Amino acid sequence: MSGIDDLPPLREVIRRHDLAARKSLGQNFLLDLNLTSKIARQAGDLTNCDVLEIGPGPGGLTRGLLASGARKVLAIEKDRRCLPALAEIAAAYPGRLQVIEGDALQVDPLAHLTPPIRIAANLPYNVGTELLVRWLTPDTWPPFWQNLTLMFQREVAERIVAQPGSKAYGRLAILAQWRCEARIAMSLPPEAFTPAPKVSSAVVHLTALPEPRFEADAGVLSRVVAAAFNQRRKMLRASLKGQAPDIEARLRAAGIAPTDRAEQVSLEGFCALAREIAKG
Ligand code: SAM
Repeated sequence: MSGIDDLPPLREVIRRHDLAARKSLGQNFLLDLNLTSKIARQAGDLTNCDVLEIGPGPGGLTRGLLASGARKVLAIEKDRRCLPALAEIAAAYPGRLQVIEGDALQVDPLAHLTPPIRIAANLPYNVGTELLVRWLTPDTWPPFWQNLTLMFQREVAERIVAQPGSKAYGRLAILAQWRCEARIAMSLPPEAFTPAPKVSSAVVHLTALPEPRFEADAGVLSRVVAAAFNQRRKMLRASLKGQAPDIEARLRAAGIAPTDRAEQVSLEGFCALAREIAKG
């Protein structure tokens, strides 16, 4: 017994199913079920929600989500060695856990989920940022999910919640904060994981806003922000030269000094600039 459910402790599960962690799959497991339950609770009341989990591994967070009352968990796992351990969890929570073996970057989970949907994951570091960017940039807003509760390396978490004027401020902060409420919900030391990674981690919580904070075309905003931060040390009149022939006038019309650098411009400023550039 493990404290949160009637299943065996994770160390035993890992030993029995021979789940030695593989670096190539970004495997750093959470074995403390009280901790995984605490992470699951960050996602809010799950009793009426389907939860999409990426990379369940031996199932620590999966069990936290199910014990917290999630209506259903859809878990996508690339490592087929984990499937027997996950099948045991599915048997303990009849009808509430569906596991898909596959690469989360390739699998479309939507056919298997019923709204409202939330996403929770201790993400494999190698695919975490790419998945986050996809979830933040759907074709239409609001997205298919209500909130995201995601583990990242501390440095990536800081980039998501960063404010202007800081080194961490960049494209990820703008993408996340334009249409979400984003905050760091928990910090975790390397020793919380097995094996311990080299760096600290943090759980980021993002709630989708019904509408963007400031009006802007998503494509134009994304292009302008990418160009501005790709050459973040340059003045905007230089880094954004290719975005419009009269970029200095457009910057001024958006209330931005052409001599400013990207990290000095607020989210509101970038949205104003995207609107100016979209005028054609
Ligand atoms: N959720 C588990 C936990 O908290 O202990 C495992 C987290 S571990 C950091 C990342 C998990 O993602 C591993 O189980 C790994 O096999 C899986 N994974 C890696 N790349 C993946 C991908 N492209 N699609 C789905 N799962 C992936």
